[in-house]
Amino acid sequence: MAINKDKSEHKAKPLTTLYNQMDKARPYLEIPDDQFEKLKKPRRTLIVAVPVRMDDGTVKIYDGYRVQYNMSRGPTKGGIRYHSDVTLNEITALAGWMTWKTALMNLPYGGAKGGVSVDPEALSQRELERLTRRYITEIAPIIGPERDIPAPDVGTNEQTMAWAMDTYSILSGYSIPGVVTGKPILVGGSHGRLEATGRGVAFAISLASQRMGLDLKEATVAIQGFGNVGSVAAMILQLEEGCKIIAITDRHGGIYNSKGIDACKLNEQVKKGGLITDYADADSINNEELFALPVDVLIPAALEGVITEENVENIDCKILAQGANGPANLAAESYLQDKGITVLPDIYCNAGGVIVSYFEWVQGIQMYFWSKQEIREKARQIMAATFKEIHAKSDELGLKNDLRTAAMTIAMERVFQAHRLRGLYP
Ligand code: NAD
Repeated sequence: MAINKDKSEHKAKPLTTLYNQMDKARPYLEIPDDQFEKLKKPRRTLIVAVPVRMDDGTVKIYDGYRVQYNMSRGPTKGGIRYHSDVTLNEITALAGWMTWKTALMNLPYGGAKGGVSVDPEALSQRELERLTRRYITEIAPIIGPERDIPAPDVGTNEQTMAWAMDTYSILSGYSIPGVVTGKPILVGGSHGRLEATGRGVAFAISLASQRMGLDLKEATVAIQGFGNVGSVAAMILQLEEGCKIIAITDRHGGIYNSKGIDACKLNEQVKKGGLITDYADADSINNEELFALPVDVLIPAALEGVITEENVENIDCKILAQGANGPANLAAESYLQDKGITVLPDIYCNAGGVIVSYFEWVQGIQMYFWSKQEIREKARQIMAATFKEIHAKSDELGLKNDLRTAAMTIAMERVFQAHRLRGLYP
């Protein structure tokens, strides 16, 4: 099974990967050509300048974006990313994946994404607060609980969402908790949201392993990214499934121990401001070495485009669980599927976050809050039902283990039918 590196999508942009995934699902959909092309067009794009007064008195201007990709099924939903590599191409692709994710999980939402091209670690807390307040003010005309509901993503967190909610509320004259999700519980957040994406990733792995007859006890796991998604997935897989986490990388470096890394201990260390590389009992490892480790489960939980023709032949795992959005391009995914590896596509695997964001939004609008147990159980039900649905679609279409195409087909069909029923205005 050779892979053609000459025709590599390696340098391809995330939007190319999104479109390639859509094109692969095209033959399984009865959608007229013009309608299909419409699904590739983002509905609304806002580009903003975000001037920030820095602590030393100078002013820096950052580029900010909010893309509402599709809103046929409801208000748009999607995170806000702070990262120095943020581009409009990336944000548009991420908004597209949010569209397919909310449709696949059958949540009453469209898809959106926002971001600012900034390295959040280079800013003080006060600078980050000013950046957030100005960015939210700039995008305020197009967001709102009935329009577009942001959430955290790479480089943003509960505190960012608290500032975002406060800014939008001040502009409106009253508290509007439903404008963002992923807020702290004290200001209208939901139990279970902080852990939701990582918990969902762990649950998806557990469902896949049961189906494959793979015992997760002592199963080896390697994870790229130890942020919200990677750290929670690591701790749950270790504590609840008995997995052995043998390697972890983040933007500062990586650690490896074939006997296992204690993810809970590492998390405590990081929470106190330490680096993962300060972990005492491990050797160092980089991303490419991590991706080449023989493991049962590999979890990319950092950024997109990290598994391509360039490194896919090195991958040696049984389950590739896409905690990150768009971590593998289409050629790499197809290669791994052909090798019999179970690839859990991002739009399913990391959907626990948007499911519990939906619960947070509903609770915020109703001002009636649920218990953590209730939230976990409801989220599991949706994840389990969708897992069955994806496999049923794959069987129906003879897609074997191409779960990406099965999931995209379900999602695109739903969005297309919503378009069809609503009709074209005017
Ligand atoms: P985060 O900012 O909390 O963590 C990101 C992690 O990636 C950090 O540990 C960072 O050090 C690491 N990282 C960054 N650059 C890296 C590099 N070059 N090599 C190795 N590691 C690197 O972000 P997050 O919320 O955990 O998001 C991670 C991924 O999961 C993103 O793709 C995001 O879109 C996706 N996701 C997040 C959520 C959510 O609820 N937070 C939901 C769905 C999907």
